[in-house]
Amino acid sequence: MRFEVSRVMDTIEQRLTTDVTLAQAVVDLAEVARFMALDGGRPINLLRLGMAIDALSRYLIDAGVMLYPVVGREVLSESALTSKERMVLGRWADDGLIEVTPVVADRPVEIADFTGLPLIVVRDVPQYATRFPWLADSPERILRLIPRAGGAVLNPAGEPVPPKDGKERLVVMGKATLPIIPVDPPSADASADESPAPSPSSSSAADADGSPPAPAAAAAADGKAGPQSFKARGSQRFGRTRVVRRRFTRAEPSGVGAALMAREWQCGEPDCPAFGRFRKIGQPVPRMRAGVPACPRHGQPLKDVGPRPRAFAVAVVVEDLARRRFVVSSEHPVVVGREPAGPEDVSVGSWLHEAAAAWIAKEHVKLAVDGDRLVVTDTSDNGTVIWKRSAPDIKEETERLYRKSYKLDGWDSVELYTGVELVIGDHRLQTVVGSEPASVLLDAPTVALRLVD
Ligand SMILES: [Zn+2]
Repeated sequence: MRFEVSRVMDTIEQRLTTDVTLAQAVVDLAEVARFMALDGGRPINLLRLGMAIDALSRYLIDAGVMLYPVVGREVLSESALTSKERMVLGRWADDGLIEVTPVVADRPVEIADFTGLPLIVVRDVPQYATRFPWLADSPERILRLIPRAGGAVLNPAGEPVPPKDGKERLVVMGKATLPIIPVDPPSADASADESPAPSPSSSSAADADGSPPAPAAAAAADGKAGPQSFKARGSQRFGRTRVVRRRFTRAEPSGVGAALMAREWQCGEPDCPAFGRFRKIGQPVPRMRAGVPACPRHGQPLKDVGPRPRAFAVAVVVEDLARRRFVVSSEHPVVVGREPAGPEDVSVGSWLHEAAAAWIAKEHVKLAVDGDRLVVTDTSDNGTVIWKRSAPDIKEETERLYRKSYKLDGWDSVELYTGVELVIGDHRLQTVVGSEPASVLLDAPTVALRLVD
């Protein structure tokens, strides 16, 4: 059991970050760890953080979701935690995967304000609405963690709480009411010729779906009335599983936040995990103390050491489900392929079926930042396809890329092989409910959660 819990902690660890480019939501770690209603177990349990990650995964329908936890310093020595948990927390703190601060108070709200990230809460925080009016005005930015069926779901504040017997209704809401867009025969697909690869996967799901084709409903293009849905290329594969409604993913950063995130900051403590010199990942946002940017860990004013390197979050999307996120910055280009050599490069190998693995090169593309744009360079033998979109709903065009570079714009995505795409940030082209994100708690039997004490 202990071994399994360790493995789960390692899995959870991969979904934690205080890099504001990579993070997708912010949370008060201890509030979740102390949320006994999630499993009815002991007063504080670090595994509950995994439940929050799972809930965020299901909410965003993203299997690689990244969470920014804030924790009060005293929790690191909390005696109600197991020694293993205290050790893990200390490691996360040292690695900058969680933010440690003497007093949490409104810090998670402040981070949400500065970055635009959604705020996950167990309890509402109306006491901070004076400083942050959006807490009252934009309730969709607050995601309430609610216990459901041995786990948790996220429910935007201001929306009715889902019934207890509702199975994943938050995710699949309205699916049955969607018009089925007729599946074009492959030959009629204008873009098929330009695709770098045949579509071995395109035959399955739409046919297996069994739904009769509906009239060419205009509803798909018309995002105004009723649930929004849009046809992406993937809908040829999955006839009836597409986005019902785009969820809130990120608000615009506040003015102060945008100004803070434009700069690189340095803490006087060289070993500082948040703003120290040895931090390897992108920076968090400073805490504002009496109008002065300060280190959330050490409290002292931070030094402005220049412009922050431009950075983009990129998602690996396989069969329309985001699997992993990573950051490309002007200082750190990233190679993506089946088996890239560099330790910080990104491998898509584990998600590939045989034909895709044969097609995608070990180092297929290189992503870099040029000025304000993300640039992709094809380094493969078979080429890469750029899907060009100025908005998620417009008709796509493609451009084949072979041994040259392309500056990504708008909602462009990069296809290494049919069904294997790189997508910028939170751009959600479509989502397949059929492939649910796996739980980070898979290695922890339910009994582990309940009987640990
Ligand atoms: Zn510091």
